[in-house]
Amino acid sequence: MKEKMYKYAPVILLSGGLILWLIAFLIDRHYNHNQGLAVWMPFVIIQVVISTICGIFIKKLHQQVHTDSLTGLRNRKYFYTKLSELKSKAPVSLILIDIDDFKSINDTYGHIAGDQVLQQFADILQSNTRKNDIIARWGGEEFMVILPQTDVKEAFKIANRIRTIVENHLFSYENITCKITVSIGITSIKEGADIGTEQFIKTADAALYRAKEKKNFIVTVTGG
Ligand code: GH3
Ligand code: MG
Ligand code: MG
Repeated sequence: MKEKMYKYAPVILLSGGLILWLIAFLIDRHYNHNQGLAVWMPFVIIQVVISTICGIFIKKLHQQVHTDSLTGLRNRKYFYTKLSELKSKAPVSLILIDIDDFKSINDTYGHIAGDQVLQQFADILQSNTRKNDIIARWGGEEFMVILPQTDVKEAFKIANRIRTIVENHLFSYENITCKITVSIGITSIKEGADIGTEQFIKTADAALYRAKEKKNFIVTVTGG
């Protein structure tokens, strides 16, 4: 509900302003002041313009607060809000992805090239998940994907598709090209299961920890 209010802030402010003006106009008519539309109109127009500009600013600020500036993905703050919301509509799966040996990319090609790899990786995540999935940069070279209404089997398929695409993708920056792999931890909760947000994340982390033992690997641990 709160999320929607930010999303539709321009419309809400605009309609609120117009309703107020309509009431003022009707009261004016009722008491026979009859100033006429010509007198009211400039105020209405100013109100419409101000409301729309304020609404667009609120919407943009809300987006910025929840966006990772490097990759354009959602950030941890947004992730927590959404996970708490979506957890109640289980089944839901959680995919935690960590780029393997990313430090060596920075060490070999420099941090700017590393940043480019992170951006291109984010693009891969966006084009290989569904519209309703929430992709967030968890921190550094770690990413979380919330898959609403998705069981563990389906989550594995999606994760494995990402893993394979990344493994075969040639990342490029200026005249540099490089390849990377990812390790992935998956956890899911079934319909009706009641599990805390922190516990859910911990389980995904434990799965990733095991996947890291092999690298370029996926481990699944069911949460509840
Ligand atoms: P592992 O396979 O065990 O995950 O090894 P790793 O090298 O990926 O992990 P490690 O934690 O040792 O190093 C993570 C590296 O990610 C180190 C850090 O400099 C780099 N990193 C984190 N955030 C950014 C970023 O925003 N840009 C760049 N270029 N590098 C980043
Ligand atoms: Mg890491
Ligand atoms: Mg890593």
